[in-house]
Amino acid sequence: MNEQLYAAKKVLKKLERAGYEAYLVGGCVRDKLLRKEPADYDITTNALPSKVQSLFSHTIPTGLQHGTVTVVYNKQVMEVTTYRIEGSYVDHRRPDEVQFVSQLKDDLMRRDFTINALAMDHQSKVYDFVNGQKDLELGWIRTVGKAEERFAEDALRMLRACRFAAQLSFQIDATTLQAIEKCKSYANHLAVERVVVEFSKIWKAKHSSKGLIPLVQTYLVKELPPFYNTIRDTNITDQEWGVLDKLKSSEEKWIYFLYLVFRENDISKQVCFANISQVIPKFKFSNTEKGELLNLLFLISTWDTDITIERGKLLLLHYHIDMVQKAQRLWQYITRKQNVSLPFDSWWKQMPIHHFSELAINGNDLLRVTGKPAGPWLKETLQYLYQQVAFGYIQNIKVVLEKEGGNYGAGLTS
Ligand code: ATP
Ligand code: MG
Repeated sequence: MNEQLYAAKKVLKKLERAGYEAYLVGGCVRDKLLRKEPADYDITTNALPSKVQSLFSHTIPTGLQHGTVTVVYNKQVMEVTTYRIEGSYVDHRRPDEVQFVSQLKDDLMRRDFTINALAMDHQSKVYDFVNGQKDLELGWIRTVGKAEERFAEDALRMLRACRFAAQLSFQIDATTLQAIEKCKSYANHLAVERVVVEFSKIWKAKHSSKGLIPLVQTYLVKELPPFYNTIRDTNITDQEWGVLDKLKSSEEKWIYFLYLVFRENDISKQVCFANISQVIPKFKFSNTEKGELLNLLFLISTWDTDITIERGKLLLLHYHIDMVQKAQRLWQYITRKQNVSLPFDSWWKQMPIHHFSELAINGNDLLRVTGKPAGPWLKETLQYLYQQVAFGYIQNIKVVLEKEGGNYGAGLTS
């Protein structure tokens, strides 16, 4: 038994010894039954948060108003949440308000899908009021209760259904799928950040396409912020879905997916790329993520098969090998020119340095040798030296760089 599970079972027993009910619940039970390693262990209990806090010596008040206390036990961290149901829903979003309840069944019935509505006690006995175990065996994602009602309460569940289909390689059951088609416009109200979280999980899944196919076929994707009705093409072939599953990084999957849904038969790829670059900032990615996606897009849209060794090395200097390789791969898939490959790997290996910080000189050295006050010339000179060294034109030795940089910097006016 792994340490996390061992600690979680200890926590269950401690709660029981204090006179309360306590079970593992949700994703960890589902994953355990599927013989997958759960990411974390969540516990549900009829003990109120204040009781949980008093029973354990190390707790964190993660979300007391929602009934959640984080318990740290044997250095393992887990969330312990009081049985609860949700308050009223506004704008098809989960409410902040919850109500504590006394029955396990009520807590399980408020959960989204049957496979997520399972509880397990410390002896591994499963509590299942919704045939969740059967759906796990069948590989089906099915809502607890009437799908239309559950999606009207919380529109994120429609996207979660697609996400679980991708993560588990499951099928969304027909009634649930029909309800997504019917209720899709509720998704307009979702916060972009939550959409991004679900997509990130789809990208990390082994079969991203298993989640994207229902997302696209039900047209739910068109309703998601920030897309709304900007998406055009939803005719995506099996081969293209296959490409998407082959791509390794989330950035590549983002760009390829956006390409698939934004392309149009009668417009050029450049227009498609322009549409994608307009939508990327609306996703509220972190600055790093946004920068990577926009750089990748820029590289693809300016890609040229006649790239010379000089230009290739400049690209490598600026964007580094990983990003350039990703751009090449994507460009090949998009243009279906898989056989046109440039030898970036060997160009990269030929370059004596790959990062600015490896340069054997810095700004202070240059200020000293030139005696000039700092200014834009400094950055330009360092950039020049970086390129000269990386191209193998001069050696990465301090005295050599001081001389070359001194001469170059002296010729610059500011
Ligand atoms: P993951 O492995 O991605 O963490 P998970 O099943 O644990 O999957 P969470 O988002 O962590 O998913 O949620 C934990 C549990 O809470 C779910 O298994 C489900 O029972 C319940 N849940 C989460 N979000 C919702 C929702 N929007 N509506 C209803 N129940 C939900
Ligand atoms: Mg979880």
